[in-house]
Formats: sequence, structure tokens, C-alpha cells
Amino acid sequence: MKKDAFKKQFFNYIFLEEKLAQHTWFRVGGNAEILFIPEEEILLEKLLKDKPNDCDIFTIGAGSNLLIRDNGINGITIITNKLNKINIDENGIITASCGASDADVARFAKDHNRTGLEFLIGIPGTIGGGIKMNSGAFGCEFRDVLIDVKAINHDGEYKVFSTNDLKMEYRKIGLTNKWIFLTARFKTSYGSKELIRSKMKEIIHSRKMAQPTGVKTGGSTFKNPLDKKAWQLIDQAGCRGLRNGDAMISKKHCNFIVNLKNATAKQIENLGETVKQKVFENSGIRLYWEIERVGDK
Ligand SMILES: Cc1cc2nc3c(=O)[nH]c(=O)nc-3n(C[C@H](O)[C@H](O)[C@H](O)COP(=O)(O)OP(=O)(O)OC[C@H]3O[C@@H](n4cnc5c(N)ncnc54)[C@H](O)[C@@H]3O)c2cc1C
Repeated sequence: MKKDAFKKQFFNYIFLEEKLAQHTWFRVGGNAEILFIPEEEILLEKLLKDKPNDCDIFTIGAGSNLLIRDNGINGITIITNKLNKINIDENGIITASCGASDADVARFAKDHNRTGLEFLIGIPGTIGGGIKMNSGAFGCEFRDVLIDVKAINHDGEYKVFSTNDLKMEYRKIGLTNKWIFLTARFKTSYGSKELIRSKMKEIIHSRKMAQPTGVKTGGSTFKNPLDKKAWQLIDQAGCRGLRNGDAMISKKHCNFIVNLKNATAKQIENLGETVKQKVFENSGIRLYWEIERVGDK
């Protein structure tokens, strides 16, 4: 690929062989062959139209649900965090660019006396990642509040998807990876700022009680099987505190893997696979990764 030509054309927004570890919550992973951090949608459209047809594209929001492997990612990796505008219209519909953080959108809604988006305060991702994962917490998920989202595909073509079009289910959607979400609209209703603030405080407090905070992690490692809690199955299989190098199953919340200091992506992934195996041997139940693993093994 003509990396140097890209570098010349999108000078300020392209980084070659950039370390991706610093862009993920786990703080692990190799380099992006080409990293692109656009500040406007139009730049992204231009890059997608100009890139070679066979070039792989991968999108990162806040990197809070990603385990990027040690060999990094080939092709173009896009980070959306500079596409982060948030607006509200006269009907209380909030429009957020997909690189806006969930917490900023929650606070924006509170500042405008709009309720319904409080659950976003505790999810450490972006709006784009949240839609892709149909993320949720405290009884609410993206599909409950999303109206629609404008997206662009890897050929630079735009389309608007309604929530129904996205076929959102528990931590997944029915859309291929070739769509990059750009701007999403959310429904809200009028609420008292004080009540919204206290609900958000309660959410933050409950998280601090139940989850490890201030650590390098990817959040819930495995999806909850139907009517079961992944953390309980992991605990019952004797995996609380289990280690592989600096990768450890959190003692506070067994479904979290923590990078204690210098874990590699391989150590984290292998620890996850060991836990899956132990849970299966102990309970006969198969766990499935919620964290997305990307890059070459
Ligand atoms: C401490 C901690 C707590 C967490 N708590 C929760 C929780 O309570 N509930 C919950 O559901 N999750 C939770 N998570 C997981 C994670 O925060 C969510 O899945 C979040 O929505 C991911 O958003 P992101 O921007 O970080 O996405 P990333 O991790 O960057 O990417 C995740 C996926 O989304 C895709 N993606 C990102 N942006 C876009 C875009 N603009 N267009 C298309 N695809 C895109 C990526 O390609 C990838 O497939 C937690 C994680 C951590 C570290």
C-alpha cells in the first residue's frame, strides 16, 4: 500500500506504525500500520473513497471493549474520538457524533434537563462503540434510546439506519463491520436536573462497589449466558484471582480481566481461553467473548 502517499495527502491526520496500546483500556496491543484520526466526517469520506479497494479498515472508539493482539492491525485503523459534537433540538432529540463519549452525552442530557440517558454515565466507551455493542447497564441499552444513526461504508457511501434496521440484541447488532457510525439521534424526555444528577451519582457509586476501578481492563470479558451470570460461573470454576503473567482475573469482579502492569495481549487472551475451558469443565456451559479480539495472532 502507498503509505507515504496517504501520509502526504492527509498529513496531520495520519500516523504510520502507531502504537495502539495507548488507545485501548487494556493498554496492550501492537501497531496500526496506518492510523487515521479525522476531525471531520468529510475527511473520513475522502480517505475511504481514495484508499485501495483491498485495504482492510478497522474502527476504534474509546477502545474499552477491545483486545488488540500484539502483532497489531494491518491496513487502516480509524479512531473516531475527534468526531465528538453533541446537539439538542427543540423536541429534545439529542444528536451525538459517534466519537463523543457516553459520559459526555449523559452529562449533556442532564445539563439540558433531559432524562433517559443516565445509564451512559458509567459506560466508558463512545457512542459508535455503544451502538456496535448495543451496550447497556442498569436495565437500559442503546436500543431503548436510539432513534437512528447515519453511517458511512468502507467505499464512502452514506446511509441512515433506524434502530429496527440494526437488529440490536444483547451485546450485538445485525450489521456487517463495513459500516462506520457517524451521528446518532437519541430520544429523551423532560426530567428534573436534580433527579437526573442523583440517578447518575447512584450509578457511579454502584459501579465503584461492584467493579475494579482505576485499572487496565476491557470490562466484562464474556457475555452472560441465558439466565446465568458469567462472573458466578467463573467464580464457581475456581478462577477468581487466576493469573497468567501480569494478566489476572479480578478478585473484585470475576468477569473482568485486569492487566496488572505489563501483560501482553497474548497473556490476556490465553487467560480468557483457560477460564472458558475451566468453566466448561465445571458447569458444561460455554462462555462467549464479549470483548472483541482484533489483529493477527
Ligand atoms: C471498566 C469498563 C466497564 C464497562 N462497563 C460496561 C457496561 O456496563 N455495559 C456495557 O455494555 N459495556 C461495558 N464495557 C464495555 C465497553 O465500554 C462498551 O462495549 C462500549 O460501548 C465500547 O465502546 P468503545 O467506543 O470503547 O468501542 P471500542 O472498544 O473502541 O470498539 C468496540 C467495537 O465497536 C466498533 N466501533 C467503535 N466505534 C465505531 C463506529 N463509530 N462505527 C462502527 N463501529 C464502531 C469497533 O470496531 C469494535 O467492533 C465496559 C468496559 C470497561 C473497560
